[in-house]
Amino acid sequence: MMDTLHDKVVLLTGGGGGIGRAIAETLARQKMKIILLGGKSREKLAETAGIAGQYAPVEIIPGDLTDPEFMRCAVEKAAGIFGGTDILINNAGVAQSTRFEDVSAEEFDRIMNINFRVPFFLTRQVLPHLKRSGHATIINIASVVSHAGYPLQSVYTASKHALLGFTKSIAREYWQENIRVHAICPGGVYTDMVKISRPDLSPQGMIQPQEIAQIVLFFLQNRGNAVIDEILVHRVNKEPFTV
Ligand code: NAD
Repeated sequence: MMDTLHDKVVLLTGGGGGIGRAIAETLARQKMKIILLGGKSREKLAETAGIAGQYAPVEIIPGDLTDPEFMRCAVEKAAGIFGGTDILINNAGVAQSTRFEDVSAEEFDRIMNINFRVPFFLTRQVLPHLKRSGHATIINIASVVSHAGYPLQSVYTASKHALLGFTKSIAREYWQENIRVHAICPGGVYTDMVKISRPDLSPQGMIQPQEIAQIVLFFLQNRGNAVIDEILVHRVNKEPFTV
């Protein structure tokens, strides 16, 4: 069941750090070609490209994915770089730590936009390219809060519920076209996001970004008859659905 991933082209958002960087390195080690799409910090993307680029070709397309024109041009540019797109990984996301009554319309829009609207429309934009691949896979990095609520994260939680719902729907809509769609729902991964949004959490026992990257690799290497919709990943000594 182990698929050869050599030379498959991966489009990955949020590659500037944390989980995205670990995914880029892990997939590059499999000789997959990587395009790091979106992100305001060219330096962070270039750092990731430096790490992953030791193993396979890596290109960066910095920019704001919430800008529809940037998204449209970037997807076409990306497909031209290595001649197609086989895998889309919607990983970019922003966290929240705000009381419900203090959430502004701007904060609501910003979080819903990057966590849900961007994966939705980016997937649609990339779909024609995926349809031409024999290995088309979409992986959405959702969260344990796709299943549960967590205080001070009303918009974040809603955005990740939406992302999981979207994942389930298109998984069924496109399976006959041989496009696999999966969600990974982690809780408590030790990245900048968690350091900023949950400073109360100690690094001990947190999931490492590389562990999430290994799950991504597992999905890509296993295209058998068993289709896995989602993987819920909670950390040791924690009940499921708690960060
Ligand atoms: P992170 O902050 O290190 O990474 C988030 C990435 O998203 C950054 O590279 C950032 O540049 C990118 N991004 C944000 N806004 C963007 C925009 N407008 N355009 C393009 N890129 C943008 O945090 P992380 O923990 O690695 O998060 C990766 C994903 O994992 C997110 O979707 C997050 O919600 C999800 N997640 C994280 C945890 C956790 O505990 N860390 C748990 C569950 C889910």
